[in-house]
Amino acid sequence: MLIGAPGCGKGTHSAWIVEARGIPQISTGDILRAAVAAGAPLGREAKGHMDAGRLVPDDLILGLMRERLARPDAGQGFILDGFPRTIPQAEGLDRLLEERGEKLDKVVKIEVARDELVRRLTSRRVCPGCNAVYNLSFRPPRAEGVCDACGGPVVQRDDDTETTVLRRLEVYEAQTAPLVRYYEARGLLGVADGNQGYAEARAQIERLLGAAGDR
Ligand code: ADP
Ligand code: ZN
Repeated sequence: MLIGAPGCGKGTHSAWIVEARGIPQISTGDILRAAVAAGAPLGREAKGHMDAGRLVPDDLILGLMRERLARPDAGQGFILDGFPRTIPQAEGLDRLLEERGEKLDKVVKIEVARDELVRRLTSRRVCPGCNAVYNLSFRPPRAEGVCDACGGPVVQRDDDTETTVLRRLEVYEAQTAPLVRYYEARGLLGVADGNQGYAEARAQIERLLGAAGDR
């Protein structure tokens, strides 16, 4: 599991873990955005919360995770990105894993200074087609507005405007930060410094993961 404030690099670092370990990334944010794009009823309920920078209700998220974990590609492990985000979600995850006879191998918290988070999130751009993530200041797409990976349009997320970003950071501190102690108490926590460059942060996360999840 990767945990940390919006903009800390959970999605970016999930990408190489997927390659290195051959396991899927499970991002509740990506699943919700796909439901919104598809016009699914779940998406309609979620969108109002997301655009306001609030969390989507726990019961909805846990229902969605139960379905996602039931898919065959999740049978050999997975990396959780953006879930759980509240103590009730963490408790729900514990129950789901117990039913499956699985356990969490490692929780890595990625720490980034608040000013840097705001700067990264407001200059972030994404490809809704393939979920590739770019940043106008340090990782722009090769051709302006065009995804390197799939050629689709690169856009700003509706919730990456400054007002909503500030709200999301408050919500993180109030509702998600307490999970750090929850996992620390279970001996699962490692902390990575996400203020460093990509390569340095990646190397540190690799060391923290160590053999976690090898089977
Ligand atoms: P970020 O980590 O940059 O905030 P995400 O893509 O993970 O972005 O999430 C975007 C939004 O989707 C959140 O602000 C929230 O409204 C909703 N969301 C995603 N995951 C969860 C979750 N586990 N519980 C509640 N809401 C969630
Ligand atoms: Zn793309």
